[in-house]
Amino acid sequence: MAFDYDDTNIFARILRGEIPNDTVAENDHALAFRDIAPKTPVHVLVIPKGAYVSFDDFAANASDAEIAGFMRLCAEVCAKEGVGLDGGNAGFRGITNAGPDGVQEVPHFHLHIMGGRPMGPMLNLRD
Ligand code: AMP
Repeated sequence: MAFDYDDTNIFARILRGEIPNDTVAENDHALAFRDIAPKTPVHVLVIPKGAYVSFDDFAANASDAEIAGFMRLCAEVCAKEGVGLDGGNAGFRGITNAGPDGVQEVPHFHLHIMGGRPMGPMLNLRD
């Protein structure tokens, strides 16, 4: 599968250290940082350090170690931010947007981990 990765995107620049970020957690394969325009009290983005455009690119092409590293960091963020279900927290929503129909703004795969308040209906579609 051919995914066309644009290495000038803002998350690639964060990974290269060209622009700052508010880091929440990090491991060899993934970085988690606060969304610059949070829409909920907890709004953290988890990104792989490898060059993957979208969830489907990552799921198809990342190595097992990259996938494990990414998922473990997601778990660490949920626990650290007090939204993971382990410990009786109230939960969270994980969202990933892909492509134009998914309204993806930054073409480097990222998972939004959002919580700290009830999230409402799953989708509010607008034309
Ligand atoms: P998406 O529409 O899923 O591609 O979401 C991109 C997200 O990246 C948005 O929620 C933005 O607020 C966020 N964002 C854009 N630039 C930055 C940045 N420099 N640091 C942190 N978050 C950012």
